[in-house]
Amino acid sequence: MDLVQLIYVSRLSPECDAESLKKILDSSRKNNRKLGITGILCRDKRFFLQCLEGAREPVNKLYATIMADERHKDVIILKYQELVRREFGAWSMAFVSSKKVDKILALQYSSTTKLDPYSMPGQAAHDFLVDVARTWQGNLEEV
Ligand code: FAD
Repeated sequence: MDLVQLIYVSRLSPECDAESLKKILDSSRKNNRKLGITGILCRDKRFFLQCLEGAREPVNKLYATIMADERHKDVIILKYQELVRREFGAWSMAFVSSKKVDKILALQYSSTTKLDPYSMPGQAAHDFLVDVARTWQGNLEEV
């Protein structure tokens, strides 16, 4: 299987509230299990930072669906790479709110404690998500 990993950032639409987020996670977990896709979604007041991993075709198709979703905008790929093994294989879609990301971790990847994935290199966005998953392992299914 040709495993790939895609990381993107987007800005929340004004109407993307807690109820929308719940629907997004419900759809994600239902669909991703069927598609063999795993990953993590980090939500801030301002942005979504998501990693999708799985076979090339379903990941590319899902990204096209997500891009067209009106609950967010300014969707930009930060990193796309082939994988030897999954990094978020335990989660159909792990979720973490940026509120849980402590300032020390944020500062490691950012010039200030306020994370801005739009100004992060793709590798930094990747390493940040891996660090978040490591920190919050076992506690990532919560909304
Ligand atoms: P359903 O699961 O049947 O839809 C569930 C509910 O969501 C319904 O109530 C429906 O009205 C509502 N809904 C669906 N699409 C929209 C929309 N565009 N605007 C408003 N309400 C809507 N989907 C995944 O499958 N996997 C992912 O990892 C994933 N990640 C996402 C990350 C972000 C930041 C966003 C914004 C969306 C993500 N989505 C993801 C959702 C994706 O864009 C599609 O909405 C979803 O895949 C449609 O699934 P479905 O056809 O099974 O719809």
